[in-house]
Amino acid sequence: MQKSAYVPFFHVGRLERYNSYQQKNPNLSWLDVITHVNIGLDQAHYSNVQLIDNPSELTVLVNKYRQLSDGYEPKDLETIDQRFNPDGLKLRHYARVAFEKMCEDALAEGISLKAVSAYRSFSYQQEVYNRYKTQDKTEEEYQAIRDKVSARAGHSEHQTGLAVDINDLEESFADTPEAKWLADNAYKYGFILRYPKGKELITGYNYEPWHFRYLGRKLAADVSKSGLTYDEYYARFLLSR
Ligand SMILES: [Zn+2]
Repeated sequence: MQKSAYVPFFHVGRLERYNSYQQKNPNLSWLDVITHVNIGLDQAHYSNVQLIDNPSELTVLVNKYRQLSDGYEPKDLETIDQRFNPDGLKLRHYARVAFEKMCEDALAEGISLKAVSAYRSFSYQQEVYNRYKTQDKTEEEYQAIRDKVSARAGHSEHQTGLAVDINDLEESFADTPEAKWLADNAYKYGFILRYPKGKELITGYNYEPWHFRYLGRKLAADVSKSGLTYDEYYARFLLSR
């Protein structure tokens, strides 16, 4: 079969990686094999890391293979209206405007949304990641535990100023009317659920019903409709060759 003829995001330079990943994952479709390898999933998290060269683009993809530089700070951070966040949290301009509109419309339907985390700087993320460090563990031992729940500095989507955690950082949040409202409506305001249930192996994160990423309305609707995670969508349609 002439595989590349059917898959526009097939990269001929990755053929060996596609083949070896397919051998290890014989149940995956060829489409998924290509998508996963394009994301980088055939290699360990935090290996083969690329420095992101378009950090301020709305489409920017940050994950365990793509890192923001320590100096990157968005230029248009703005404080979210205090009715929708208690602590002076910030988002980039368009994300802030869309978030407030979403909160207002939700409130009109009796749904109360609040930001509990938004923009985080590289150094703050470093602090968060290292928060539980003790003498009795090696760096590797600490990473093995901590990587499951926290992003390493430069790898948190929160550093883009386009990600917001809403209301509650517990999986039980998923069963609340607020989370259900968000799951149904967030895309209309330009936000997507970034770490869905059942996609843990692709996103590298546990299910986070509270973590939303601003992409703008058009792209958020397209990603939502596709049923793909943003990692998959990016690897198929946005990754430059
Ligand atoms: Zn988050």
